[in-house]
Amino acid sequence: MPIKQLPVELANQIAAGEVVERPASIVKELVENALDAKASELVIDIESGGAKRIRIRDNGVGIPRDELALALSRHATSKIADIDDLEAITSLGFRGEALASISSVSRLRLVSKPAEQSAAWQAWSEGKDMQVRIEPASHPDGTTVDIQDVFYNTPARRKFLRTDKTEFGHIDEVIKRIALSRWDIDITLNHNGKRVRYYPAVSEHDQLHWRRRLAKVCGSGFAQDALYFQQHAHDIHIEGWLAAPEQCRHQGDVQYSFVNGRMMKDKLINHAIRQAYDSFLTAERVPTFAIYLTVPADQVDVNVHPAKHEVRFHQQRQVHDFVLNTVKQLLLGQHQEDTNSASD
Ligand code: ADP
Ligand code: MG
Repeated sequence: MPIKQLPVELANQIAAGEVVERPASIVKELVENALDAKASELVIDIESGGAKRIRIRDNGVGIPRDELALALSRHATSKIADIDDLEAITSLGFRGEALASISSVSRLRLVSKPAEQSAAWQAWSEGKDMQVRIEPASHPDGTTVDIQDVFYNTPARRKFLRTDKTEFGHIDEVIKRIALSRWDIDITLNHNGKRVRYYPAVSEHDQLHWRRRLAKVCGSGFAQDALYFQQHAHDIHIEGWLAAPEQCRHQGDVQYSFVNGRMMKDKLINHAIRQAYDSFLTAERVPTFAIYLTVPADQVDVNVHPAKHEVRFHQQRQVHDFVLNTVKQLLLGQHQEDTNSASD
């Protein structure tokens, strides 16, 4: 075959292969966009596990009419402008790919109204060259992304969708992670017209409501008993909750880590925590935690994986040992307290 330029839609579908694994990955991208747009309220409507519909409404800054087409095209972003910005990412998104990718494998409609614009507009793209169409719409300040029929035009991908219940379970988990990473956001999650989760916004220093949200996400046992801690050294801040070894769970469903507000499945952090717990845990229990790491943005590379759930720390060893030692000291202190009170 001679060399040919791929049609835009096909190129975007190929790119979608990296970020859009299932409905939950779409939800993650859209919610991250809403958070980057400084929304304080999110309403997420899901139908049939997300395969049929995913609709996310936010009250963020919105997208001006003349930027709607760009928002839907690939490699277009308002979050970085040059290579220096890439060295110190402070937003959740930066690749400028999500909307273009998602809209190439579903029916996507973007409706938005910035506060300073008098009316709302909606946009969607069509055809092999993904031409963007724009029409007037009605919408309050903010943005709604409405997605229907995920993978309708990529049957090979559609085949890999699991039951509605399983797919919704993945979405629920994504939203739990968001609920843990952003206490200040009011989040509603509906499935098939029924409200399934509601996480009211919590103000910054409100321990009672913190624990209440923690209970909703991690279970009331963890929220009641977990040890809260904070530690700071060499520009790294760590805080969060740890279960005492004898209160750790049997499954690994409460193992949450965040780096600079981004939800992570980071091997380095998980390894450090596992090692810290190691000598305290009996075989049937696993580390149970929600921890938050804050490092200077230029000390961590988030451009490692398209789905952005891994990072690379510049000072790997230092971060690892800091997490390890902090967690270990805390568990050790707890252990000694227990032994002392047992011998009283
Ligand atoms: P990225 O988030 O990497 O920039 P996306 O494809 O997810 O790329 O989004 C493209 C652009 O569209 C963003 O940079 C942003 O300017 C705009 N955008 C997307 N979603 C929203 C939203 N909910 N509110 C405001 N702007 C948005
Ligand atoms: Mg994005």
